[in-house]
Amino acid sequence: MSTQTHHGQASLFGADTSTRRHPRHVLSYGLGLDSTAVLLRWLTDPASRDFDLADLVVVTAMTGDEFASTGADVERYVLPELRRHRVRFVQAGRNQLLTTAAGEGITTFSDTTEPTRLFAEGAYALSTEMLTAGTLPQRGGVRKCSARAKGAVLDPVIARLTGGQPHQHYVGFESDERGRADRDAAYNTPIRTGRYPLIEWGWTRADCDSFVYELTGRHWSKSACTYCPFAISSARGVQSTLQRYATEPAAGALALFVEHVATCINEMQTLRPTGRLYDDVAAAGLTDVLDLFHRRLNDTEHGVYEVRRVAKVRGAGTKAVIARSVRLLDRGSRAEMAAALAAMPGHLRTGGDGIARSVVLARGESPPWAERFYVACPAVVADKARPHFERWFAEVAGDVALF
Ligand code: SF4
Repeated sequence: MSTQTHHGQASLFGADTSTRRHPRHVLSYGLGLDSTAVLLRWLTDPASRDFDLADLVVVTAMTGDEFASTGADVERYVLPELRRHRVRFVQAGRNQLLTTAAGEGITTFSDTTEPTRLFAEGAYALSTEMLTAGTLPQRGGVRKCSARAKGAVLDPVIARLTGGQPHQHYVGFESDERGRADRDAAYNTPIRTGRYPLIEWGWTRADCDSFVYELTGRHWSKSACTYCPFAISSARGVQSTLQRYATEPAAGALALFVEHVATCINEMQTLRPTGRLYDDVAAAGLTDVLDLFHRRLNDTEHGVYEVRRVAKVRGAGTKAVIARSVRLLDRGSRAEMAAALAAMPGHLRTGGDGIARSVVLARGESPPWAERFYVACPAVVADKARPHFERWFAEVAGDVALF
């Protein structure tokens, strides 16, 4: 059984899927330590499972921005085991921003019991979404980035694989992640039952680590996008991420590029809650990362953007609604756009982030406020403004004096 596809093919499944029996056991394989431990234990210790491997399908949704070392470890240690045990492995991911429950916008890169490579680069990376929107994964609340890049892919893929038949859906929550398991179980339906093997086994992260180390000789790394703000929300997380950048400079350079674009558009948008990840990389002396980042900046076509933002208060005691308009006005080399920016109206100033902005209207301390500035930025951000933006901006900006 083997269907491996190439990027750009907007099919949810390979042609022969309809003839296959619907698997009753589905493992969400996130490539990280927890689900790797579950999978490797199932493969090496039949007593750890209550089903036959022929009835299992392993599914991964690619964000497109994993560390290369994670992909290499999976290819080296996990794929051979899947081949050896002839376990079906489905790799899928978005091929465009929006997906539907019917599977539009999703490509299946590979559906086979003989996987030889990981399609970790995906077809539409989460970083493309972030760059196009000039934003970053949002730290607070639910992880919307994960819901869009993984959940919205896995749900239709699993629905098609299981064909409406009852199935067990396995997720690698650790034994002390009962709360997450309870929240996941809230999504159970008459046909979907969430199962949490690590909790059933009483396995902590340390247990997973020693088990996987025992089998592979590797301390398995966390699976994450190279710029994941959740992975660097603690000092320890920053340290381990910087260590990964030291051996994978391209991963760090991508993170800095994504952060730079977002910061150009909004100086408050940084990967770390306390400031720019760039400063941590510079302080750590990761010159390879910095060199790659600066080279990419210099080689990327730039644009002069007009950025406007408005905070509108819709009623007493309600939270202000913030809306944004981004418009590309000119494009050219980085140096050309720096010169074009200097000719724009406003007061040209360079912030602590080293980014020059020509400010026409500065944002106020408290809402309602409006701001308007010009900035030279890699020309990767798409024009965007929500409906009613012009009216809102005119209402608020009309009441304040221009710079
Ligand atoms: S790894 Fe981080 S950035 Fe990537 S999808 Fe998950 S939460 Fe979002």
